Amino acid sequence: MESIADNLAVVRDQIDSACRKAGRRPDEVRLIAVSKTKSAAAIREAWEAGQREFGESYVQEFLDKLEDPLLSGLPISWHFIGHLQSNKVRQVTGKVSMIHGIDKVTTAEELSKRSGQHGIVTDCLLEVNVSRESSKHGLDPASLMTAAEACFRLPNIRLRGLMTIASPDPGQARHEFAELRECLEKLRSSAPDPAILSELSMGMSQDFEEAVLEGSTMIRIGTAIFGWR
Ligand SMILES: *Cc1c(COP(=O)(O)O)cnc(C)c1O
Repeated sequence: MESIADNLAVVRDQIDSACRKAGRRPDEVRLIAVSKTKSAAAIREAWEAGQREFGESYVQEFLDKLEDPLLSGLPISWHFIGHLQSNKVRQVTGKVSMIHGIDKVTTAEELSKRSGQHGIVTDCLLEVNVSRESSKHGLDPASLMTAAEACFRLPNIRLRGLMTIASPDPGQARHEFAELRECLEKLRSSAPDPAILSELSMGMSQDFEEAVLEGSTMIRIGTAIFGWR
């Protein structure tokens, strides 16, 4: 069996070659190691191999990991990548560097309110359902502009970009990644501060090369690093 450190090295190599193919610099693409369902020991192993950004999807599991003696005190940058319900926002506010899966204005409002109580501004992304699969979370691309404009007005969040989960077929996924990039370009043209609206969180173990080719700035990889869940 390959170790987590070996897997990370392979994934980093693959990202570098995808960047070369796309004519992009490797430092334009951040790797988020998705550690949901994986142990604190596995996260620690990835950390020892130099990984600093991790993604978690379930609130209680995430809070438990923060308390774990193997991890507490490590300067880890946590990304909340799961679907976040309004009533759970309070529990993660102040503990994450970015929230990826906001798909309702009411959730954004709650996040701004709770961030205000902590005296912070929280970076977040709007999730867009570009694959239009009804089983998926995310805003319809047609309602994205209205939602983003509401977010621009909230004082304690900073909308940094968009996130999506693509269709399973990588060819189809590539079209969806291109659409997400176009959505971001459109939003930037009406954003009060386009420079901070720069992130595209797209690409997972199966389709990150396609995502890098279409401009991804953050790829979220679980299986290829930690093995099957
Ligand atoms: C689980 C998950 C991932 C990682 O998926 P892999 O296929 O294991 O790389 C990425 N993004 C989100 C939102 C996830 O829930």
